[in-house]
Parts: sequence; structure tokens; C-alpha cells
Amino acid sequence: MSKDVLILAETAGDKLALVSSELSGIGRKLADDIGGNLVAIILGPEGTKELSKGLISLGVDKVVVGELDIFDGYTNSFYLEGIDAAVKECSPHTFLVANTSIGRDIAPRIAFRHDASYAHDCTELSYEDEKLCAVRPIWGGSAISHVKSKTESLSIASLRAKALPMADIAEGRTGDLVELNISMESGETQMSFLEAKKVQSEGVRLEDAEIVVSGGRGLGGAENFSHLEELGKVLKAAVGASRAAVDAGWVPTQMQVGQTGKIVSPNLYIAVGISGAMQHMVGAGPSKNIVAINTDADAPIFQRARYGIVGDYKKVIPALTEKFEELLQS
Ligand SMILES: Cc1cc2nc3c(=O)[nH]c(=O)nc-3n(C[C@H](O)[C@H](O)[C@H](O)COP(=O)(O)OP(=O)(O)OC[C@H]3O[C@@H](n4cnc5c(N)ncnc54)[C@H](O)[C@@H]3O)c2cc1C
Repeated sequence: MSKDVLILAETAGDKLALVSSELSGIGRKLADDIGGNLVAIILGPEGTKELSKGLISLGVDKVVVGELDIFDGYTNSFYLEGIDAAVKECSPHTFLVANTSIGRDIAPRIAFRHDASYAHDCTELSYEDEKLCAVRPIWGGSAISHVKSKTESLSIASLRAKALPMADIAEGRTGDLVELNISMESGETQMSFLEAKKVQSEGVRLEDAEIVVSGGRGLGGAENFSHLEELGKVLKAAVGASRAAVDAGWVPTQMQVGQTGKIVSPNLYIAVGISGAMQHMVGAGPSKNIVAINTDADAPIFQRARYGIVGDYKKVIPALTEKFEELLQS
């Protein structure tokens, strides 16, 4: 086993995804701490190689590129074979993925194949006696667990989005580019990628937003989300929802925050008419500041909120919108 740190770089369209920069930042630090190289694997269709320069400028020493049609769209069996080949070739000490749908799907499979330790959804990573140590919020963020890898072989961790800063960019940095040595045909898997449907949405993406305004069952109907949209426009915020609001058919699934929805980590999360169930807090808990607006002073959301307003959102939201508009204009 080498002392190298391997990261799984992800793409967003024809660019590197933001999580690739976050992984490069922590990966660089860990590689320097342990005295190894930072290696990135990136998979995708023709043109993916172009992104390796970007990874090198983020601090990566070597990029392993799998530029094949089978990596056009995510099919887990192809990705698994591609990443497994890179892990075998590099024999890294540590393998880092982002806690995205791809990272969550791939990391445990690689851990199983390599008898590796696996820490999921980490917010801090370091080494102690060359063993990977991780800090992980658990139970919807109600407790923090500190874990240490015991294995002599590979250690794997998935990193929570926005938990750590992005890497510094050093233009002109040089590094190696290696093509992934793998040949697979699309017939060799029981699953095939059919199509990706892009959801049309206006404004800021929920996962990238610095401010999120989310509504729950307490809003009482689809039409009342317009109050949140108005506040969202003023604050340049994305609008999210609890599962109760999604299940009621008030808003589309892609707006759901929580265990079975999206995990968000904005600076400010305004929860409106949301009780604060554990499954919702799994997605909203990473937010730096939570503001809750609820008629029930005993709602569990107030235990997690930095600021709470006990009141009817129909009065509170228009008043807040007006005040924020006034303050932001002055
Ligand atoms: C396996 C599993 C996965 C799940 N995944 C998710 C998930 O990903 N995301 C998620 O959100 N949930 C998820 N849930 C559901 C979760 O357990 C809760 O049922 C859900 O979060 C409740 O949504 P809510 O807070 O909007 O509704 P409620 O719990 O009904 O809360 C509504 C709140 O609105 C307040 N209210 C009422 N009227 C007003 C008013 N006029 N002004 C202000 N406040 C008012 C009430 O006091 C109450 O606190 C999951 C559940 C399971 C079992």
C-alpha cells in the first residue's frame, strides 16, 4: 500500500463539480500530512480529459482519467469497475469521495471489495498514527461521533458537501495524466443508462444556496408556497420543503430536504411550518444557522434553531419579507 490519497472527482455538465474542489483541498492536506501524493480519478465521456488540468491546479499530483462512452451518465457497475481498477493500480492509503448520490453508492462497494474501513458523511478528517480519523455528525446532527480507522489496508471516507473549504487554485501547476486501463462493453452489465432528464428550475440550486427557505405541512396548501418564494427572491434564497409538503403534492420531489431528500448546508436555513422531525433534520441539520417559524412553541425544531419565532407564518413571513427588502435596499 502506498501513502497516496485518492479522490473521486465528479463533474457537473462539462465542468468539475464544486465537491471536486472540496475533496482536492482536504485530499492535498492529508497527502502532505502522511507524505504521499494526491491522486484523482475522473470518469466520463469524450472531453473528460480536459478537466484534468483543473484538478492539477487544485493541488492534484496525478489524474487517472477514464474517458469512455460507458461513463457517459452514471451506471454504478461501470463506475465500480473503473474506480476499482484505479484503486488496484494506485493502492492508496486513503480514498475520499463526496457524500453525493454517486459517492454514497460507490464507497461502500469499494470498501467491501478491499476489506477497507468506511466513515460516512464526515465533516473533518485527519491522521493519527497514520490512521484516518473522522468527525461525523450522527442522528440528524444531534450528536457528533469521532471515529478512527483500525485497518492496516485502505481507509475510505465520504465528505459532507460544504463542510470543508474549497482548494486554492494554483494556475500553472504541473502534474501527471494517466489513462485508466480498463475495457468494458455496455453489454457486460445488467443495468444500462437510458437518459438523464434535466429538471428546469429557476434561481439558485438548493444544494448550492447560501440561504434556504423551506416550507412544511404548516403552510396548509401549495398556493401558500408563494409567500416563501417572495421571501426567497428578496434574500436570493432557494426554496425547499419537508416531505409532508412533497407527499401532499404541493411541491415537486426535488425540493425535498431530509433523509430521503437533499442534504443542504446553507449559512441560513429558515424552516417555516416544519416540526423538525429527525428525518427532516438529517437534511437541514448541517445548516450553519437555523431560524424556525412555528405556531407551536414546543415544536422540536426550536431545539435546533438559533432563532425562533412562535407565530403564524401568514403574519410573520410578509413582515420579514418587507423588513429584509427595506434593509437590503438601504
Ligand atoms: C423513512 C422516512 C424517511 C423520511 N424522510 C423525510 C425527508 O427526507 N424529509 C422530511 O422532511 N421528512 C421525512 N420523513 C417524514 C418525517 O418523519 C416527518 O413526517 C415530516 O418531516 C413532517 O413534515 P412537517 O414538519 O412539514 O409536518 P408536521 O410534522 O406535520 O409539522 C407541521 C408544523 O407546522 C406547524 N404549523 C401549523 N400551522 C402553522 C402556521 N400557520 N404557521 C407556522 N407553523 C405552523 C405545526 O405546529 C407543526 O410543527 C421521513 C419519514 C420516514 C419514516
